[in-house]
Amino acid sequence: MNIDQSQDSCIFCKIARHEIPANVRFESDEIIAFDDINPSAPIHVLVIPKVHITSLRATEIDDQMLLGKLVYRAKLLAEELNIAESGYRVSINVGKWGGQIVSHLHLHILGGAPLTTKLAVATVDESVPLTH
Ligand code: 5GP
Ligand code: ZN
Repeated sequence: MNIDQSQDSCIFCKIARHEIPANVRFESDEIIAFDDINPSAPIHVLVIPKVHITSLRATEIDDQMLLGKLVYRAKLLAEELNIAESGYRVSINVGKWGGQIVSHLHLHILGGAPLTTKLAVATVDESVPLTH
């Protein structure tokens, strides 16, 4: 597990510590899930580990169980949010070209409407530093 020193200022750590508000959909000792502040679909929930892990890239072999719990929690939340039957997407953005903005591992659950199948190429903003 790769833990850096930025967790004091990390926005998702602050949500996990209930220091800033979020519409929480699920919480356990290890995981918290909450609505995305800028939703890309009618249902857009983020599932995160409470521990500060910067990215999927930073995970290690001992994180496999936690990663499985995050994915399974996404499946359970999709059922609870009534988007499972119609279909939904679970995605993880990794690093600069993967579209990762927040440097705290998170799964996106997107659903509630038909989603675009375009997952591929966008314009890269070269001003964004590679931090993941
Ligand atoms: P990324 O692009 O890093 O995969 O996704 C980060 C997501 O976090 C974005 O969809 C963005 O809207 C969401 N986000 C950023 N800041 C906040 C916040 O303060 N609260 C909540 N609930 N979501 C946030
Ligand atoms: Zn964090």
